[in-house]
Amino acid sequence: MYRPQNLRIPGPTFVPQSVLAASARPLINHRGPEFAALLAALTRALQDFLRTEHDVLILTASGSGAMEAAIANTLSSGDKVLACDELAKEKGKDGAKAVLLTHNETSTGVLNPVKDIAAVVRESGKLLLVDSVSGAGCSELEIDEWGIDVCVTASQKAWGAPPGVSMITMGPRAWKAYEKSNLPKAYFDLGSYKASLEKAQTPATPAVTVFIALQESLRLMAEEGLEAIIRRHRHLARATRRGLQAVNLQLFADERYASPAVTAFRPPARVDARNLIRILRDEHDTIVAGGQGKMEGQLVRVAHLGFVTLQDIVAFFSALELTLRDLNQPVEPGIAISAALRTYAESTQQQSSRPAARAASRPAADPVATRR
Ligand SMILES: *Cc1c(COP(=O)(O)O)cnc(C)c1O
Repeated sequence: MYRPQNLRIPGPTFVPQSVLAASARPLINHRGPEFAALLAALTRALQDFLRTEHDVLILTASGSGAMEAAIANTLSSGDKVLACDELAKEKGKDGAKAVLLTHNETSTGVLNPVKDIAAVVRESGKLLLVDSVSGAGCSELEIDEWGIDVCVTASQKAWGAPPGVSMITMGPRAWKAYEKSNLPKAYFDLGSYKASLEKAQTPATPAVTVFIALQESLRLMAEEGLEAIIRRHRHLARATRRGLQAVNLQLFADERYASPAVTAFRPPARVDARNLIRILRDEHDTIVAGGQGKMEGQLVRVAHLGFVTLQDIVAFFSALELTLRDLNQPVEPGIAISAALRTYAESTQQQSSRPAARAASRPAADPVATRR
């Protein structure tokens, strides 16, 4: 029997049928006019979604490649960098050149308050490099308004495209730092990306297929609208947390910093998370992620970013309830599902009862329509 998978990992995320179809188009000349038009349109669309007028450079590399580029193009050997939890106490006496900050921590399901942290960094005069690989496109992010110098994201997270492409923004302070930076770089030399972009090209052969796919997913996202996308993620994340709590599973992140993209939770007492994850996969076709590093076996991470719907979350809870039963942790059938549905109904009702919000919450072109 054909059994579709419910892919609930934090990237690669579900890719809609029309995006997959776009990636199956015949190849084009990456030095020709079609690609030039594609690159220009993609760059403009990404500037809109990332709320920036800074340069947006599209790299053929995963998010890690763009993070390496962020560092290699702005820092020099011997430069110090700060992790965000040291900021307040260091008060600028640290001699650090830059602050590295993760916007959405995919490993723990925590959304960091980038806006507040950015304000502190701005005062200190340091560069702010933000890893928003899994935060951009599903949570509030104002690159220019908040003063983010370099920001990185990747195609296979909230953007719902196949992996292979990452995006990096470079503001004026970042370009100034680039002039002085002496770290080795060749493939990731962002100056050459900027120079090529002026001719609507990339320095080396790009992953043309993924660029085309990304353009289609950005088109679907533009139909829904960024505000509606952010709201949908917030509502689905909240519904997920309430569903988990309804079956007495402990959430890992503080509610105030709960991620709209991924929720991490502890398995029931005396259950290894890896076992729960295996049963979800083998018996119930539901693919979630585990804890990383020292959290292996202790965390389960269920993702709700990208082209995700309430139906996906309900399907996840039906699989989770069955898995808990398999693990001799019986739950009343439907209890997590109904908590998730109730929470979602409450969140969306509050929203539609506010007259001003109603126009903005017009039903979006449903990506699910093209689905299975
Ligand atoms: C996925 C992810 C990365 C790594 O990106 P790759 O595309 O796998 O190289 C880095 N940071 C965060 C926050 C991520 O979610």
